Amino acid sequence: MNTKQLEQAADTERLFFALWPRSELRGRLAAWARQVAGRGRAMRRENLHLTLAFLGDTDAARLPEIKSLAAEVRFDPIRLPLDRAGYWKHNRIIWCGASAEPQALTALVADLRARLTTAGVRYDPKPFVSHVTLVRNAARLPEAPAWIPLVWEAGDFALVGSARIQGRVTYAVMQRFPAAAG
Ligand code: ATP
Ligand code: MG
Repeated sequence: MNTKQLEQAADTERLFFALWPRSELRGRLAAWARQVAGRGRAMRRENLHLTLAFLGDTDAARLPEIKSLAAEVRFDPIRLPLDRAGYWKHNRIIWCGASAEPQALTALVADLRARLTTAGVRYDPKPFVSHVTLVRNAARLPEAPAWIPLVWEAGDFALVGSARIQGRVTYAVMQRFPAAAG
C-alpha cells in the first residue's frame, strides 16, 4: 500500500443501509440459493440482506452524524412478503422480493434517503427496487426447485460496513435502528 491508499483505508468506510434478516430466514434463503445457483455464486448465509441505500466509500468522520440521522427515522415494523423470485439478465443475479412493496418499506427508504440528502451524505441515487440478491453471476433461474413464498417481519434496519477481508466480502452491522413500537 502507498501512503495515499493507507490514508484512505483509515479514513473511509464502505457503508450501506439494509434490512438484515434473522437467523431462521437467512437459513431458508441460503438453502434455496444453493439449490438454484448452478455455476453462479450463492450468497453466503451471513451476507444476505436487502439494501435500502448504498453510500459506498464514506468519510469515517461522518459516522456519528450518519448514525444520528438514521436514528431520527420513524417507521412502522415492516411485513415484507417474499412472494416471488426472479432473474435479472443485466446483472446476472437471482433474487427474491415482494410483488407489492409494503408502504412501510417505501416510506422508510424515502425518509432515510431524504435525511441523507439533507445532510449532504452521498449515496447511490438509483431508484429503490426492493430485492434480496441470492445468487451472483447466474446464467438463468432454473425451473426447479420452485421458490416457496416467505414472509419477512423486519423490526429494524441496520447501518452496515462492507470490507474485503482475506479476499472475502465481509459485512459488519455497525448499528441497528428499531421501528416505532407497534
Ligand atoms: P463486491 O462488490 O466486492 O463483489 P458486494 O457487492 O457484496 O461485494 P458491496 O459492493 O460493498 O459488496 O455492496 C454492498 C451492498 O450494496 C450489496 O447489496 C450491493 O448489491 C449494494 N450495492 C453496491 N454498489 C451499489 C450501488 N452502486 N448502488 C446500489 N447498491 C449497491
Ligand atoms: Mg458490489
